[in-house]
Amino acid sequence: MFKKILIANRGEIALRIQRACREMGIQSVVVYSEADRDAKYVRLADEAVCIGPAPSAQSYLHMPAIISAAEVTDAEAIHPGYGFLSENADFAERVEQSGFVFIGPTPESIRVMGDKVSAKQAMIRSGVPCVPGSEGALPDDPKEIIKIARTVGYPVIIKAAGGGGGRGMRVVHTEAALIHAVQTTKAEAGAAFGNPEVYMEKFLEHPRHIEIQILADTHKNAVWLGERDCSMQRRHQKIIEEAPAPGILRRAIEKVGERCAAACKKIGYRGAGTFEFLYENGEFYFIEMNTRVQVEHPVTEMTSGIDIVQMQIRVAAGEKLPFTQRQIETRGHSIECRINAEDPVKFIPSPGRITTWHAPGGPGVRVDSHIYTNYFVPPNYDSMIGKIIVHGDTREQALARMRTALSETVVEGIHTNIPLHRELMVDAKFIEGGTDIHYLESWMAARKR
Ligand code: ADP
Repeated sequence: MFKKILIANRGEIALRIQRACREMGIQSVVVYSEADRDAKYVRLADEAVCIGPAPSAQSYLHMPAIISAAEVTDAEAIHPGYGFLSENADFAERVEQSGFVFIGPTPESIRVMGDKVSAKQAMIRSGVPCVPGSEGALPDDPKEIIKIARTVGYPVIIKAAGGGGGRGMRVVHTEAALIHAVQTTKAEAGAAFGNPEVYMEKFLEHPRHIEIQILADTHKNAVWLGERDCSMQRRHQKIIEEAPAPGILRRAIEKVGERCAAACKKIGYRGAGTFEFLYENGEFYFIEMNTRVQVEHPVTEMTSGIDIVQMQIRVAAGEKLPFTQRQIETRGHSIECRINAEDPVKFIPSPGRITTWHAPGGPGVRVDSHIYTNYFVPPNYDSMIGKIIVHGDTREQALARMRTALSETVVEGIHTNIPLHRELMVDAKFIEGGTDIHYLESWMAARKR
């Protein structure tokens, strides 16, 4: 096992990884930007290295600074967390070329999954169900594009192969609008992602977002740890996640979970990963794979009892997964609310000093957050300041626990989306379960009136 790991991230996930290291008796090195100098987890780390000024490009995205920090502290492995460099194949490659272990999949896996066209092709080959669409990147010939769209059937969605974060997509309802939409998406994709390739999919009108968590080691073992429902989204950003997904037949989930684990074996995947699906009319359609730990991993940890971050570290150190698929049992229900520093109605970011922070507690309540009273939320990064996660025997109990937890939580000095979560936890449709990915936005539109 490693003696020392460098954490190439910030905020709650840096603290989360630090906790995993501490529990395993591994020393942790935290890198930080000047904006994060006073963060408590920075002071609590065994070692901390300042890697540059506040802007991410000069700190958390600055590969040479991170690799030098690993060199000067004699770290053996680098955990990238999520966001920042976590899905950057060049970074993974540079980490390994510099003699460190990258806690994640191989650079090749990241590259294949980072390109949505190649990812989809790999999934089709592995028997994972995908959204019907073009077989690869769209050709240049408009006549060919029109032909493909007729076969797929309108509405269609044009997506950039290199897209991410909900950007580089365009829905097309009629043939008249098709070619212009393809050309515009191509031009935007070229400018934004350096890759003008686009592909076409059938546009699903009312899907849910269901994803499968997997773990794979370097000894040809791969397992899936259950699913998460992340349909509560605003502008493609998840804000509430839960496990299991309400109202979906176990047998259907098992079938897709088994396919995902089999695909991991087939492509030689290692580490933690997530297969994201759209789910509509009883069918799963793969949309993309995330080759890293996800923000919402705790709901799976709560239901499976498996520490996903520790597993990432074990697998990176060459250990075998300590369980087989048959030994994995999920129990009860878990819900996560992402707490963002933003206006709960207008969603304008609300950085600044937190004058009071009171965290919730009690049975089945987990808080993953790096904030504290007097913490200054820097304006430079993502607005998420923490997550409240609850677990109960049933979904009803989990909902009740989340309501209680949210009622106890106090954040003063800045605005947060806690009032929004409080409203959603008593919303009849959400309580019923199974809302689609458009539900939250239509709920917000109705609230405005
Ligand atoms: P990104 O990497 O940018 O997050 P995804 O491929 O995961 O891109 O898609 C993001 C979101 O876009 C999905 O969660 C869904 O809301 C919507 N979307 C993507 N593909 C489709 C589709 N074929 N039909 C309907 N909605 C889609």
